[in-house]
Amino acid sequence: MSAPLRVILAQPRGFCAGVDRAIAIVKKALAKYGAPVYVRHEIVHNKFVVDELKSLGAIFVKELDEVPDGAHTIFSAHGVSDAVEDEAKRRALPYIDAACPLVTKVHRQGQNHADQGEEVILIGHEGHPEVEGTLGRIHGKTHLVATVDDVAKLDIALDTPLAYVTQTTLSVDDTRSIIDALTERFPHIQGPDLKDICYATQNRQQAVRDLACGDQQADLVLVIGGKNSSNSNRLREIGADCGVPSYLIDDADGLNPAWLDDVDTVGVTAGASAPEILVQGVLDRLAELRDTRVEVLTGIEESMHFKLPVELRD
Ligand code: SF4
Repeated sequence: MSAPLRVILAQPRGFCAGVDRAIAIVKKALAKYGAPVYVRHEIVHNKFVVDELKSLGAIFVKELDEVPDGAHTIFSAHGVSDAVEDEAKRRALPYIDAACPLVTKVHRQGQNHADQGEEVILIGHEGHPEVEGTLGRIHGKTHLVATVDDVAKLDIALDTPLAYVTQTTLSVDDTRSIIDALTERFPHIQGPDLKDICYATQNRQQAVRDLACGDQQADLVLVIGGKNSSNSNRLREIGADCGVPSYLIDDADGLNPAWLDDVDTVGVTAGASAPEILVQGVLDRLAELRDTRVEVLTGIEESMHFKLPVELRD
C-alpha cells in the first residue's frame, strides 16, 4: 500500500485583519440599516465571500452612479480615490469606507511626500483598485512602476525631489529589486523600504517560501484564492519560483486530480481574502482522492485586529 499523501497547511494563511474588518462592516451595516446595502467594487477579491454577502442583501456595483440616492454605501477594502469619496459626499450618500487601515496609511504617506514637494512613485500594478485609490489620494505629481524595466523608463530629472510608496500586497522579492533599481537611479529617493507591504502579505509569503523552498519540500503547492486577488497570485508565484508546480484555485472544484500524480507532499495555503471553509473543502477533496495525513506548518501567530468604524461598533 502506498504511503499517505502528506498535506502541509501553511501558517499563517487566509483572512487578514483588513479582510475580517471589511466583511464585518458589510454584515454589521446590513444588520443595522437593513438590506440592501450597496458595495462599490468587490468588498474583497473572493467570489465565495461576495456571494455570501449578496445572499444577505448586499448589492455590488462598479461605480457610484449605480447606487440609488440615499442608499447606504460601502467602499471596498482596497480603498478609493478622493474623487469617489467626493462624489459620495456631493450626492449625500450615507457611506462607510471599509479601506484597510494599512492601505489608508499608504495614502497618508503618499500625500505627506507630495506636501513636502516630492514627486511620488507608486510601486504597484496598473488597474488594481488599490493602486487607483492610492493614486487618486495623492495630490501632486505621481508615477506608477510595476517592474525594474519601468524604473529605467521613468522620465524624471535626476535632481527632482522624489519619494516612493508601495501597494500593500506585492511580492517582497520583486519589490526589493524595484526599490534597489530606484535607489540606484535616484540615490536621494525617500521611501519606506518594504514596510508598506502589509504584515499579512509578508507573513503569507514567508509561509509559502517555507513550504516550497524550505525543509518541508512540498512537491505541489495549492493556493486557494481569487484569480483577481493580488496577494493570492503572489503566493502562487513564490511556489513556482521555488521550482514547485503551484496552482491558484478558487475552491476544491479547481483541484485537478492529475496534479497529484507522483506527489508525496502537498502544501496548501490561502490568500488573505479566502475563507477557511474553502481550505477545509480542499482538504476534504484531497482526502477523497488519496489517504491523507494533514500537518500544520509552524509559523507566525497573528494577533492584528482593526476596530470597526464608530457607527458600527456595538
Ligand atoms: Fe489590509 Fe494587508 Fe489584508 Fe490588504 S492584505 S486588507 S493591506 S491586512
